[in-house]
Amino acid sequence: MINLSDLPNWESPWRSTGSVTLLRVSSSALKQLPGSCQVEKVAKAHVAMYPEARDWATRKDPRAVFLLGAVRAVLLLPNTPAELDNVIAAELGETATEPSIAAAKMMVRNALNAVEDFAADDLTEDLVMTPSNDFVCISNDQNRRLELTSWGIYYQSQDKSVRELRLFCYRDADLARDRNQLIAAVNILLNGAITDGPLARWSYPHQTIPTDPQNRVRVRQIGCLDGSAATLFDGDAASAAAFVGGISTVVQDFLADPTFTPGNNCVECKYRISCPEIPKQPGFLGLPTSGTISKSLSRAMLSAYQRCNYQYFLTYVLKLPKKAFESNAAIARGNAVHEWISTAHERQIACSSDDLPQAGLGEIATKLGWTQDYLAQARNWISSHIQVCPFQHPDTHLLSEQTKTVWDSDADVVITTRADELGSRAGRTVWREIKTTSNLQQLSDDEYLILYPQVAFAVGIQAAVAGIVELEILTPESGKIISFDAADPTVQLAATRALAINFDQLHHDQEFAASPGIACLTCPVSAWCDKRVSEPATTEVLVDGLAVDLVTGEIISSKPVAIDALTKALALVEPVDESDDLPF
Ligand code: SF4
Ligand code: SF4
Ligand SMILES: [Zn+2]
Repeated sequence: MINLSDLPNWESPWRSTGSVTLLRVSSSALKQLPGSCQVEKVAKAHVAMYPEARDWATRKDPRAVFLLGAVRAVLLLPNTPAELDNVIAAELGETATEPSIAAAKMMVRNALNAVEDFAADDLTEDLVMTPSNDFVCISNDQNRRLELTSWGIYYQSQDKSVRELRLFCYRDADLARDRNQLIAAVNILLNGAITDGPLARWSYPHQTIPTDPQNRVRVRQIGCLDGSAATLFDGDAASAAAFVGGISTVVQDFLADPTFTPGNNCVECKYRISCPEIPKQPGFLGLPTSGTISKSLSRAMLSAYQRCNYQYFLTYVLKLPKKAFESNAAIARGNAVHEWISTAHERQIACSSDDLPQAGLGEIATKLGWTQDYLAQARNWISSHIQVCPFQHPDTHLLSEQTKTVWDSDADVVITTRADELGSRAGRTVWREIKTTSNLQQLSDDEYLILYPQVAFAVGIQAAVAGIVELEILTPESGKIISFDAADPTVQLAATRALAINFDQLHHDQEFAASPGIACLTCPVSAWCDKRVSEPATTEVLVDGLAVDLVTGEIISSKPVAIDALTKALALVEPVDESDDLPF
């Protein structure tokens, strides 16, 4: 049991009303995920505390439905219904669209198979497990009440001596869950009691009913996309007690000194109007309206939209599961060049030709553990970087991979990007973006801002501190720097225009028309798409004079073309964000 007097008290960082006495911590909140905001999680755990400023709810697209909710609902039914597809569609609700229904059907079928396999295993030891109400583990003292919960399906054996929680993931059920999350789940089974049903209001405390003692607890996991299944914990009461020995420390660490981490998730955060840490810049994107839904935007999202509007819709609006695809030569090379540069720059000195000897790996590639072949693919571009390394300028200090977030509260869009290099030079802030390319035509500065909206984004951020933004374009032959003075109103205007050109259509789109073709080849959501072409060619001419080759990942440009065609070409050969974050 957790001693509540050991837990730190929480002081809301914004004006709040309500009570701090009821704490509800879900096992998933205890996960240590890089990039997730601890403050939001701790604030949400205080379920009877409300921010005073509540006039900005997150607006969601009604077509976005919770797929795993439907999986759970079907698994809780006493028998698999004959009209399974109809039941799934009904669980998803009438706003669900065909791609979501297709994904949910596949996930339900896989989960049902896993449940059957579990039941067959259990029968070999004469166990029959049936679903029960959720369990909750409650600790009380005169001042506070802590409820530990975990989302999934709870089971008990007929004699109630075995308790089990089944968790869901998309794929690879074998992968261990975050250790804190697993400790919490086992603790709930070991020390918890059955609730009397779902809560009437989230701010009410859970009520429990008398619960038979257990002598064995299990946590199992089902991968709903690949049909995998695994047992994450199975032990008697004594081994479970030993496993959860650290639960007090886990909860204590969770509540102690939470830190703000602004990022894409801020768009779903109900505290964002009150939050002192998310930078609010109304009008940042230069968009005329707030659109119909709250949005987050990153380079990966914009690229998906440029490849195919429908791909963006399925991936980022409906949030359907994504599959990974093999990266092409250009992506692999780009990643290698960035990795080399960021490792070299940890030294805070200029890269030199000594770092890239003709024979051998050199200091940096050796440190990275590269082979000669791996270095060879990136060598020419690294050599071009050495010509234009930012540390050649005196008094330069830079850090790699810095995340920057801004909330345009007029448009209700949260934009996040990761600066390749961010720091200062002779007292002025410097932001450098590095792009590798094979054969990019000569563009005007304004066109570069449109082609690389993260550079326009950087100008917008740097405007407040009168900083400099540098775009470093590396080809196999040379390196070139295009410098933008963010203090210059003309440059600021061009950046705002570039952002508006990039985001306007996406921001106001509600139809999300499909562009079947070469984009289908690398589309991470093609499994759910009813519009995909089955065997597209790997090369496609986008407009006269511009083609893309997906095998090499190169843009083939024989004459100057319009910037929007070039933008689409670039999106087609750029990598896709493959993070697979479940909504619980
Ligand atoms: S707005 Fe963002 S940074 Fe602020 S509390 Fe919410 S998630 Fe954290
Ligand atoms: S499969 Fe093709 S048409 Fe469908 S979303 Fe993906 S890219 Fe668009
Ligand atoms: Zn360098």
